[in-house]
Amino acid sequence: MRSDTSKGVRHLRDASILDRFQDAVDEVLIRHRSVLDVLSKIQEADSRVARATAKAVTACGCIAVQADRQRIPADADALSVHQYVRSHIEGDLCGRCREALERELGQALFYQTALATLLQLDLRTLLTDELQRLNTLGIYNLT
Ligand SMILES: [Zn+2]
Repeated sequence: MRSDTSKGVRHLRDASILDRFQDAVDEVLIRHRSVLDVLSKIQEADSRVARATAKAVTACGCIAVQADRQRIPADADALSVHQYVRSHIEGDLCGRCREALERELGQALFYQTALATLLQLDLRTLLTDELQRLNTLGIYNLT
């Protein structure tokens, strides 16, 4: 997706896929149209993402988790911290696990978009605003 930084704030220029995705979600959202169904499906979809990730470790073994305390030098500044923190993931997803995770993450995005649609929130606006927060707050966005 292309973006434009000419105004100092990134705007999603080619947002047509977002519009098409939200429209498609709205069209197929018949069986789970209730906000209660969508909220519970979001939780189910998120659990399936976690389960697919865990199965890549415990059933397939294409990735492993090697975790320990993050070791950030005391003199590291905020902008260089990212070079010291680790994901704790070793290895790469195999084709089967990648496919499973892409499918589960796609379902999670579907239900997140469904909730936005039911609440009459525009996906493009949400992502543009979030991108602006990322650009403004940077590494402090999720702390
Ligand atoms: Zn695998």
